[in-house]
Amino acid sequence: MDQIIFTPTRAAGLERLADFTPRAGAAYTAGRNTDPGPAQNGAVSRLSPWIRHRLVTEEEVLRTVLGRHTPQAAAKFIDEVFWRAYWKGWLEMRPSVWTGYRAGVARALDRVATEAGLRRDWEAACKGETGIDGFDDWARELVATGWMHNHARMWFASIWIFTLRLPWELGADFFARHLMDADPASNTLGWRWVAGLHTPGKTYLATTDNIRRYTDGRFAPTGLSREAHPIAGAPNPPAMALDLPRLGDLPAGKVGLILHDEDLAPWFLGAPGAEATLFISARAGFSPLAMGAAGAAFAAGAATDAVARWQGRLGRVTQGAAHADAIADWAATEGLSVVRAAYAPVGPTADLLANAARRLAEAGCVLEPVVRPYDARAWPHATHGFFKFREAIARLLSAL
Ligand SMILES: Cc1cc2nc3c(=O)[nH]c(=O)nc-3n(C[C@H](O)[C@H](O)[C@H](O)COP(=O)(O)OP(=O)(O)OC[C@H]3O[C@@H](n4cnc5c(N)ncnc54)[C@H](O)[C@@H]3O)c2cc1C
Repeated sequence: MDQIIFTPTRAAGLERLADFTPRAGAAYTAGRNTDPGPAQNGAVSRLSPWIRHRLVTEEEVLRTVLGRHTPQAAAKFIDEVFWRAYWKGWLEMRPSVWTGYRAGVARALDRVATEAGLRRDWEAACKGETGIDGFDDWARELVATGWMHNHARMWFASIWIFTLRLPWELGADFFARHLMDADPASNTLGWRWVAGLHTPGKTYLATTDNIRRYTDGRFAPTGLSREAHPIAGAPNPPAMALDLPRLGDLPAGKVGLILHDEDLAPWFLGAPGAEATLFISARAGFSPLAMGAAGAAFAAGAATDAVARWQGRLGRVTQGAAHADAIADWAATEGLSVVRAAYAPVGPTADLLANAARRLAEAGCVLEPVVRPYDARAWPHATHGFFKFREAIARLLSAL
């Protein structure tokens, strides 16, 4: 399959940003819904694998685009960049939606193990063997490349839920295993949005005409469901107060760093940096099933690139198992009093760090999570829908 190459280095991400920036205005607005297939860039940036790992940050993307366009001309693109912060903030204030999703995946996989019909349909959907034009191509494209266009993600999720009538959690899990940009908030909430669980009563229905039009006639599936009734589910929990950690008084002593794939730029490390660094990836904890090769390769390459670029400030670097005991053993071996880490939003890395903080505390070591100012400013606005969040965007831009 001819495909665009995603090289997991910051240099490649910056090159793509520079190439895309002239097109971030009217060309993006006009062409962003068209999926030209895996061999062509189309009108979108295809920056999400870099942004998701913070090899390139949202702030850098916004600043670069605003260096070339007015906020009005690039309004659509700017909105899209802020959708990531919106989803993260929304989930951060409603962590039970994440635990509910995890329980839903486990329940659905139990059903797959015992219901032959469901297992057959789920396997056919994941292998791209349903006979549905487009859907099968996107499934195979995702497994082979780790990538899917946003509009194809919407069509795919809609067909999975409303035509194939498969549990939405299994579809979100399929994306989580294979996407290079697999992200707990954007993925889980993207699927919930299509299913009608995010905005009560509002679902997304994929239609033949819309798919034909926005794939330039490459696909025109027939037999799609003509209805999309919202999936039954508990109403959204109310937003909890956002209680982000603040930097406290730290004990004197040796300082270590945990570098993780939620944020591969430890911007908070001043000179002389950390005495020792542990790199951990909790990516495998995103699904009970095995991770796909393309997404895993991007994540591993991104980590190697980050370690090489930050080398001078990381001290002795160790690659560790994603387990609280392994983190505590590393801190003890290095004789650390403080371990710093970029704050991880709701997801497997946050779960791991919470367990590690308890184990470290038992040994008299403090785990200090550091929140990016961009996140701290944006997340509190995700109390309701995106349209309310949007009202804060002008202020968030001026804070850049
Ligand atoms: C069912 C479903 C699942 C999804 N799962 C993920 C996921 O696991 N990880 C992920 O990063 N995105 C996910 N998305 C959002 C979106 O599809 C991708 O972020 C987008 O396709 C990335 O392509 P791009 O970089 O070319 O985006 P562009 O259109 O060029 O947008 C620029 C940047 O804005 C952000 N962005 C754009 N659209 C969205 C969006 N809808 N939600 C959140 N951020 C957005 C991304 O950081 C993106 O790189 C999902 C969407 C749906 C409908």
